[in-house]
Amino acid sequence: MTNNSHNWIVLKFGGTSVSSLSNWQNITSILQDKLSEGYRVCLVHSALSGISNKLEEIIDLSSTDESETVLEEIKQQHRDLANDLGLDADELLSGEFEELEQLSRGVALLEEAGYHVQARIMALGELMSTKLGVAYVKSQGLDAEWKDARMLLKSIPVENASEKSLVLSAICDTSEDKELQQQLDEEGHDLILTQGFIASDNSNKTVVLGRGGSDVSASYFAAKLNAERLEIWTDVPGMFSCNPHAIPSARLLKHLSYAEAQEIATNGAKVLHPRCIMPARVHNIPIQIKWTQDPEQEGTTISSAVADDEALVKAISVRDNVILVSMETLGMWQQVGFLADAFDVFKQYGLSIDLVSTSDSNVTVSLDPGANTHFNEIRDEFVDDLNELCRVEIIESTSAVSLLGRHIRTILHQLGSAFEVFQEHEVYLVSQAANDLNFTFVVASDQADRLVQQLHEQVISKSSAQVSFGPTWQQINGSHSDGAPYKDTWWKGKRETLIQLAEKEGPAYVYDSDHITETVDNVKGLESLDQLFYAIKANDNEELLKIFYEKGLGFECVSIGEVEYVLDQFPDIDRERILFTPNFAPRSEYEQALQEGVHVTLDNIFALQEWTGLFEGQDIFLRIDPGHGHGHHKHVRTGGVNSKFGIPRFELEEVKSIVDEHNIRVKGLHAHIGSGIKDPESWKRTALVLAEVAQQFEDVEYLDVGGGLGVRENEMQSVLPLGEVEQGLSEFKKAFSQYKLWMEPGRYLVATAGVLLARVTQTKGKGKIRYVGVETGMNSLIRPALYGSHHSIVNLSRIDEPATQISNIVGPICESGDKLGIDRLLPESQEGDVVLIANTGAYGHVMSSTYNMRAPAREIVI
Ligand code: ADP
Ligand code: ASP
Ligand code: MG
Repeated sequence: MTNNSHNWIVLKFGGTSVSSLSNWQNITSILQDKLSEGYRVCLVHSALSGISNKLEEIIDLSSTDESETVLEEIKQQHRDLANDLGLDADELLSGEFEELEQLSRGVALLEEAGYHVQARIMALGELMSTKLGVAYVKSQGLDAEWKDARMLLKSIPVENASEKSLVLSAICDTSEDKELQQQLDEEGHDLILTQGFIASDNSNKTVVLGRGGSDVSASYFAAKLNAERLEIWTDVPGMFSCNPHAIPSARLLKHLSYAEAQEIATNGAKVLHPRCIMPARVHNIPIQIKWTQDPEQEGTTISSAVADDEALVKAISVRDNVILVSMETLGMWQQVGFLADAFDVFKQYGLSIDLVSTSDSNVTVSLDPGANTHFNEIRDEFVDDLNELCRVEIIESTSAVSLLGRHIRTILHQLGSAFEVFQEHEVYLVSQAANDLNFTFVVASDQADRLVQQLHEQVISKSSAQVSFGPTWQQINGSHSDGAPYKDTWWKGKRETLIQLAEKEGPAYVYDSDHITETVDNVKGLESLDQLFYAIKANDNEELLKIFYEKGLGFECVSIGEVEYVLDQFPDIDRERILFTPNFAPRSEYEQALQEGVHVTLDNIFALQEWTGLFEGQDIFLRIDPGHGHGHHKHVRTGGVNSKFGIPRFELEEVKSIVDEHNIRVKGLHAHIGSGIKDPESWKRTALVLAEVAQQFEDVEYLDVGGGLGVRENEMQSVLPLGEVEQGLSEFKKAFSQYKLWMEPGRYLVATAGVLLARVTQTKGKGKIRYVGVETGMNSLIRPALYGSHHSIVNLSRIDEPATQISNIVGPICESGDKLGIDRLLPESQEGDVVLIANTGAYGHVMSSTYNMRAPAREIVI
């Protein structure tokens, strides 16, 4: 026994961390390590995963039968875990099971539960789990003392707080507790185990700290014990730039200051409860976030020792269920006292305000629902009172999306392209925090996920910051899930062949036919589709087209040139397998396409109005503008008013009257909303729009949902889950079995199959910046210059050498934009090395030119 109050360490384990035998085995060895290092351990843990939700259900249920069912599920979950741990739940938890039965019966009978009863029910989750926890660690030979947290943590009365929040989101004192330290010293235990989430008030009644509150308990204990460290053990290996379960390319944040962590937690990163940082911060106790599943991972450290250097967006977070209160004031707000009076109403109702934005006649504020759980109960009265001062509108179903980092003001200009994503989203409120750590937008909730995804890709995945960011969730998790998400690319296994090719042939695009075949087979796994069409503009290489032809794909052509090319390659092709989908093409191209007998798509009412005779009696397709665009860069976003593609829906009635009058049959409808889409629901949504439009056109048989399947362009990006795409489409198919569904991927089928190889010509060092010059540049690959697209670049000749130099990879073209990649970490490159630019199978060679009279890279299929 150490009996030294100065080496306490507090470990907190969350719900998933305490719900399996393998995690308990990890917990035991973590405890053994800490104890052998001489620490005294205060272990705080949550209820088993999902139990707090079930307890909430019991509180809400008024039928005894339903409540019995949930009760039985709760017991069974504890029995199952106890079984795995070699324990007997019915014996260990008999008291808690009985209390829960009585309380839930009472609630079901009375059809209501007072706040204190609710707290007692909720507290049972942690009480039950810790009883199992302590029995298990004891069975493993550890001398642990179970403590009832309600005897150790006392809540404090908070002025203006509602009764509900005093009992259900209680707050405790954060000062050091010498008395407790002394008591524990006297008792002499080196390991105490207690509950997160629960405390008691002045009259010893049970209170709880709000959902997710175990983190907060742990931080209170750390403050009380003046612990050396607070470790939060959870189901992810640290705090990430975004929720890693939503954005697999989210990057680990290795170090954060308290202020940054506070900002990220406050703005919705569930991994830390926002209230858990302050108690540790006050006592300068470092917080570590660690992964229970793999204790060796470094995790995130939050402390005061973080250098305040880089100006950087470090994280993007989203808070759902934000409620906005819009106050229309007709200029009154500039009157002395208006804001004070209005805010006083919020105060009277115990509502805390989060964001504020003002204009001439409007003040809009947001309420953080976490802090305002009672809003719905007081809503009507509150609105009535506030209406006395101004016209009030409550806007719900909104989400706050925040860019978080440091010195955000100084880097706003760099966010220019990121802000393009707001072009087609309605933004209700924008707010920049005075502390310069956050920039927040409130948008409709159904837009939020997409927005976060786009912002993350633009602002964080493309960031070259090396110091703050660690690996991505996918990279870390890859080694834990048989490597599937982070499989080696084909070219790593063909390195020698590729080097020889580049040395012999000069700059070259190399395409791997096996990889293409595999990709086609994956896409053919979308079984709800009746036909796939390859969009040949992505790559028109003859040998690749042959593969697609043999696999039964059709071809989507955007010019008569492409149509003729396909007919030349495959003279016997069934004309049904060719789609002609031009945009602003001359009349002659439509004439020719109709003669060839291929499907012709019109994307402008002009053609029907001006060239009516041409289409008289014909079958046609219509390209619809579904009204919104989607994609990785504005140049490839092809739906919405700012796009030149598609017939807007307001013109469809006129289209209808022309086609009816001239016996033109609309056989199919088509929409393509952009490229690089990773949202698996997107195609289903498009199909639904098309099905709606199809109600106006009785001849429609085919719905073509376009292409745009997002490719994982580099290792930082997420993968489009094809299984979920299929799920969406099959749901659609079930509801609308009368239509045949078509899709027309281009990039997705070829991008990852191609690499561009080029040898190093010269290197240059200009101060801090290094240039690695290669023999071809934007004349072969224009995407980085045109779209700012990011391609992984490796020095194939030195793939095993450590990457030590941050370099810009540039071509020989006389344009300062002739860069293939900037700020890339490469080994020290030498003249003649072969450099590989990955994922260049799409829109590479087809967009190349002989600019500067330099022949672009040739194509080789292997
Ligand atoms: P615990 O039960 O251990 O308290 P929580 O579910 O409360 O765990 O918090 C962990 C979860 O937080 C993760 O599974 C993850 O989905 C979510 N999360 C949200 N934002 C982030 C982020 N920026 N970094 C890490 N995790 C996050
Ligand atoms: N069990 C509580 C909850 O699920 C507290 C916690 O896990 O942090 O909200
Ligand atoms: Mg939690």
